[in-house]
Amino acid sequence: MPSMFPKLNPAVFITLFFVAEPTFAAQKEAGGQAPSGPAAYWGYTGDNGPEKWGDLSPAYALCKSGGQQSPIDINHPQQAGLANIETDYRAVPLHVVNNGHTIQVNYGPGSSMRVGNSSYELLQFHFHSPSENRTKGDTYPMEIHFVHRDDKGMLGVLAVFVKQGKKNLGLHEIWSKMPRSGGDETKTDDVIINGHDLLPENRDYYRFVGSLTTPPCTEGVQWHVLRNPIEASAEQIDAFLKIVGENARPVQPVGHRLLIDSAPTGASAH
Ligand SMILES: [Zn+2]
Repeated sequence: MPSMFPKLNPAVFITLFFVAEPTFAAQKEAGGQAPSGPAAYWGYTGDNGPEKWGDLSPAYALCKSGGQQSPIDINHPQQAGLANIETDYRAVPLHVVNNGHTIQVNYGPGSSMRVGNSSYELLQFHFHSPSENRTKGDTYPMEIHFVHRDDKGMLGVLAVFVKQGKKNLGLHEIWSKMPRSGGDETKTDDVIINGHDLLPENRDYYRFVGSLTTPPCTEGVQWHVLRNPIEASAEQIDAFLKIVGENARPVQPVGHRLLIDSAPTGASAH
């Protein structure tokens, strides 16, 4: 006869942990403020999928009511001479986290991105598959988001598309230590990585204001999407999908936002 008070099954604890942890990690990942009240679990499919995020918690309301949400399809941007993107990323011991939504590489202090008068510190970078942003409707197999914050707390994201091609050596180092389960992390001095190895030579970019692409969908994020992709092998893209699965929010309405293309007039034809 079953007991009325069964011993607590360890699986209960595991379930609770994995439900709570990814959401908390994602809030930290964003560098944004944690929502007040209990955070709701969100995902990329079904009842917790992107169409439902805004209903899962009052803290996620912007996911459905916001007017400057990300990602977007970058179409017909205006051309303007924008400041160059200058990155100064340090080589750091690898600290990679599987937060249940993505694979994220955390960065300590001392690495920065400068765009004109704006200066941001690199907090972390992480991966999406397929790409979240699009250009003229085109997607890529992956997109990397380098998340930065300035001294006023404003977020600046540098986004890099990844197309299928040659094996990427910078990615190889990270993938070799990729934590397989949500909540797992690897911190090791044996592997030194540099986010700089995942940037293309050419820094032409699209600029616009948007949001975090995950709950709480905080707006006011300065987006810089590089026009030119880097490459990764089919095996590397597949390895991510096998562990994380597809994790791209669908594109959101552009509305009246200004989309700017940094390339001089005529350069985009090449
Ligand atoms: Zn992202």
